[in-house]
Amino acid sequence: MIEDKNQQRTQLSDLGEFGLIDHLTKNFKIKQSSTVKGIGDDAAVLNFEDQKVVVTTDLLVEGVHFDLSYVPLKHLGYKAVVVNLSDVYAMNAKATQVTVSIAVSNRFPLEALEDLYAGIETAAKIYDIDVVGGDTTSSNTGLLISVTALGALSEDDVVYRNGAKPNDLLVVTGDVGAAYMGLQVLEREKEVYKVNPNNQPDLEPYTYIVERQLKPEARKDIKELLKGLDVKPTSMIDVSDGLSSEIIHLCKQSDVGCDLYENKLPLDPQVISVCEEFNIDSTTVALNGGEDYELLFTISQEDFMKIKGNPNFSIIGFMKESKEGMHLVTRADTRIPIKAQGWKNFND
Ligand code: ADP
Ligand code: MG
Repeated sequence: MIEDKNQQRTQLSDLGEFGLIDHLTKNFKIKQSSTVKGIGDDAAVLNFEDQKVVVTTDLLVEGVHFDLSYVPLKHLGYKAVVVNLSDVYAMNAKATQVTVSIAVSNRFPLEALEDLYAGIETAAKIYDIDVVGGDTTSSNTGLLISVTALGALSEDDVVYRNGAKPNDLLVVTGDVGAAYMGLQVLEREKEVYKVNPNNQPDLEPYTYIVERQLKPEARKDIKELLKGLDVKPTSMIDVSDGLSSEIIHLCKQSDVGCDLYENKLPLDPQVISVCEEFNIDSTTVALNGGEDYELLFTISQEDFMKIKGNPNFSIIGFMKESKEGMHLVTRADTRIPIKAQGWKNFND
């Protein structure tokens, strides 16, 4: 949040478009055997041989999806890549390449874009993907980032949203609600900072949830983990908008209903304590928070023993006939219809 007055500021116009692209992308190395030609020609050339290819894209807009007053650009670059990889993993594919397009106003110096690309480079390294292209253009106001991710998999491995059957178990990886509570803490600290810029925030008690917001990770590990357990999900989706909205997607597309158990929702202890501090119901946060980038999937009952007790997974409910509807079964054993609240970018 503190602007370093001594920081170097190189005008983007000093480099020109080609100089800029060259400067930002010179460190990217090709690692995937499916990349024949990366950055530098009119288009990348890829070779997936007999594999199927998945493609997904996301657009992030300053002021709508991120706030640069508390999101460091390095984290933003990292997150922009990771949220796309999450969609690739939700198809049960291996992520292989991304393209990154940016529109940037001249209020950003070169050093800011270097930070953004340092985050992109880190994500590419950690997730073992190639950056094979993109586009660079100017914007009149803020920053826009669009990432397209590609992944590969054999045809038999593809998992869609629409394969869930009645009696299948509903499973989620990791824990939920932390990224949303991290955002609440950051928003609060931003207000405090506005009133008193000398007040440095103490984020120490909130490390986990703030990290989940600023530097989320996608579940690259789950495909191999499930393969090792000999489990193929019947349906799968990643948790970006919030658990309840993703459950509704799986149910509607699979034409099933579902019972979700409140007491099975996986919450980190830090989420529970910060919910108390903010006086917010932790179940509401778990269901509607979003940006968890965990995977939500269904498995056949036959596979129950294969994942039972595995710390990576929580069995949070089971699917029913669609006429039974979608319900949250509360701790008090009442049944509440599941509604999507999620991120309403167009409404609020
Ligand atoms: P074109 O004029 O065909 O759009 P560009 O000059 O925009 O080509 O891009 C040159 C090369 O640099 C291409 O390989 C393109 O994919 C890549 N590239 C352009 N902008 C970016 C960016 N922001 N990040 C990564 N690669 C980029
Ligand atoms: Mg171009």
